[in-house]
Amino acid sequence: MKKFLIAGNWKMNTNVYEAVELAKHIVHGVSTRNIADKVQVLICPPNTNLDAVHRELKDSKTILGAQNCHYEDKGAFTGEVSPNMLKQFDCEYVIIGHSERRQYFNETSELTNKKVIAALNHEIKPILCIGESLEQRQNGSTFNVLAEQLEVGLKNYPKDKIANLVIAYEPVWAIGTGVSATTEQVVETHLFIREKLCSILGDNAKDIFILYGGSLNPNNAQEILSSNNVDGGLIGGASLKHDQFLAIIDYAISI
Ligand code: PEP
Repeated sequence: MKKFLIAGNWKMNTNVYEAVELAKHIVHGVSTRNIADKVQVLICPPNTNLDAVHRELKDSKTILGAQNCHYEDKGAFTGEVSPNMLKQFDCEYVIIGHSERRQYFNETSELTNKKVIAALNHEIKPILCIGESLEQRQNGSTFNVLAEQLEVGLKNYPKDKIANLVIAYEPVWAIGTGVSATTEQVVETHLFIREKLCSILGDNAKDIFILYGGSLNPNNAQEILSSNNVDGGLIGGASLKHDQFLAIIDYAISI
């Protein structure tokens, strides 16, 4: 049986009231579905809403994550949030190296590596995002880009923590554009990622969850989620509409 992680990245959206409302709908929707061991549902609201959403998720089957963290525990890093601060809200996952962080905040693969290790040290599972730009895809450097993001981002990754790692393949050109990667592109790229992970971390990497992200929606979810080496989705826009997010969950349940 194929298992899935369906993760919502709310980005810089929702005030606290909207976040609670959205969380309520998702919690209710998940509670009325038989997700059993088949689908894990994760939502990643903005940090300002973690406390309120954490309360909504209490005793539910939906789990909480964050969108970013610093690699230090505390200190003079104005505006940053550390993994142990996220742990206060029982964050089980943290998204690291999202392309928007790489693009707008100059995050390098070296920095994502520090964050991955810091998250692990606080028992938070990192979702390391990787992906090529449109220019990189067009000039044929996609696999080189992904290889660098994985090799550097996973440097010194402890092999006994392989089960805690999630990779999200998110082609930059597909994020928020309404144009997802084709099934062929997804299959080819996820296979490359799987093989690369095995070469970096050994054979156990065959079980690492690899999510697809980039304009995943109810229209393309069934086909993409059914593809080889796709273990779930990281969903932006469609995760802000509970009916769309739940529809994607329904496809995951049905596969
Ligand atoms: C994302 O931000 O991770 C993402 C995949 O966004 P969207 O689903 O809106 O393309």
